[in-house]
Amino acid sequence: MSSTAGQVIRCKAAVAWEAGKPLVIEEVEVAPPQKMEVRLKILFTSLCHTDVYFWEAKGQNPVFPRILGHEAGGIVESIGEGVTDLQPGDHVLPVFTGECKECAHCKSEESNMCDLLRINTDRGVMIHDEKSRFSINGKPIYHFVGTSTFSEYTVTHVGCVAKINPLAPLDKVCILSCGISTGLGATLNVAKPKKGSSVAVFGLGAVGLAAAEGARIAGASRIIGVDVNSSRFEHAKKFGVTEFVNPKECKKPVQEVIAEMTDGGVDRSVECTGNIDAMISAFECVHDGWGVAVLVGVPHKDAVFKTHPVNLLNERTLKGTFFGNYKPRSDLPSVVEKYMNKELELEKFITHEVPFAEINKAFDYMLKGEGLRCIIRMD
Ligand code: NAD
Ligand code: ZN
Repeated sequence: MSSTAGQVIRCKAAVAWEAGKPLVIEEVEVAPPQKMEVRLKILFTSLCHTDVYFWEAKGQNPVFPRILGHEAGGIVESIGEGVTDLQPGDHVLPVFTGECKECAHCKSEESNMCDLLRINTDRGVMIHDEKSRFSINGKPIYHFVGTSTFSEYTVTHVGCVAKINPLAPLDKVCILSCGISTGLGATLNVAKPKKGSSVAVFGLGAVGLAAAEGARIAGASRIIGVDVNSSRFEHAKKFGVTEFVNPKECKKPVQEVIAEMTDGGVDRSVECTGNIDAMISAFECVHDGWGVAVLVGVPHKDAVFKTHPVNLLNERTLKGTFFGNYKPRSDLPSVVEKYMNKELELEKFITHEVPFAEINKAFDYMLKGEGLRCIIRMD
C-alpha cells in the first residue's frame, strides 16, 4: 500500500476560477477515494475541444471554480472501499463516460450509455456523497465529467477508469482516453463504411482525423475532408484524406457541393465540429437510400437540429455517439493494443508538448486552430 493511502494529498492543479480566464496553478487538497472510487496520479493529460467549451462557458452552463481535463493517462495511487478490480500501481486511462457493468446499457451490446456513469457535464461532485474531493483552504473546487485530469492527483469512480497494458507509453496512449477513440469508434463502430465507399469527415481536428483514420482502416476509397480552416488540409493528407472542401469558399451549401462531387451524396459522413450548421450539412450530404451520418461534436446548449423530414423519408440515417460507442472498461484496453501492435499510429496526432506550468499554451493552440493534440507533462 502506498504511504499516501487514506490521507489527504496536497498537490498542484490547474484551476479554472472563471469562464475564459487563464487557468491558475494552485496547491489543492485531494481527499482519499471513497466507496467505489480510486485516486489516480496523472502523468500526462491533453486538451480536447470539449474542455475549451466548458472553460469558455459561452454555449454551456458555467460551473466554477472547476478542475477541467478528461484526456489523460496515469497510475492508481490508492483505492476506496469496495474496489476489487484495480490495484495501486495499475496503469489506467480515465474516461468521461463510465461503465458500471450492471445496468441495462452496460449489459446491452449496442449501448455505452451507462445509466449510472454516462457523461454529465453539469455535475461537479462525486456520485457517492455529492461532494467534491478537491479543496483549497476548505473551499470545494468542482470536478469535470468525473475525471478532472488537470491535477497531479484526481479521484474518479472506478467505473470511469480503464486498466491498460502497463507497457503502453502513457505519453502517447493518453490521447485514446477521449478524442482518438471517439473519432475512430464513430467511424468503425457507428458509421461502419463498407470497403470502397465514400466518407465525408466534417472538422479536421484530432477527433475528425481519427474518424478519417477509421475510414482508411475500413477501406474507404474516397475520404472527403471538410473544414473552415484551410490550414488543416495539408496535415490531413497524412490521415488518408483524399479531397478537401472549405464551406467558406463554396458558392452553394456544402452539402450540395458534396452531392455533386459524389453523384448524389457520400455513403457515410462523420461530423466532428460541434457546429450546428456543419451537423445539418453532414446529414444532408449523405446519399439517399443508404447514407448514414454520425454526429460527434458537442453542440451549443441551445442548438436545434433542423432538416426537412423528407431527407429522412428518403432513407438517410442520422446517428450520434459518445466515445465512439466504445465501452470504456471493456473496449479501451483493446484499442490500446491496436497501438501496441502498430495497427494504429498515434504519434501523428501529437503536434505539441508543454510542461504542466504552461498548460494555458495548450488552450492558445486550440483556440488558434494550430496543431492537433498538445500533451501536457505533469512532472
Ligand atoms: P478541434 O477544435 O481540434 O477540431 C474541430 C475542427 O472543426 C477545427 O479544425 C475547426 O476548424 C472545424 N470546424 C469548426 N466549425 C466548422 C464548420 N462549421 N464546418 C467545418 N469545420 C468546422 O476539436 P476536437 O478536439 O477535434 O473535437 C471535435 C469535436 O468533437 C468537438 O465538438 C468536441 O467537443 C467533440 N467531442 C465529442 C466527443 C463525443 O464523445 N461525442 C468526444 C470528444 C470530442
Ligand atoms: Zn474529449
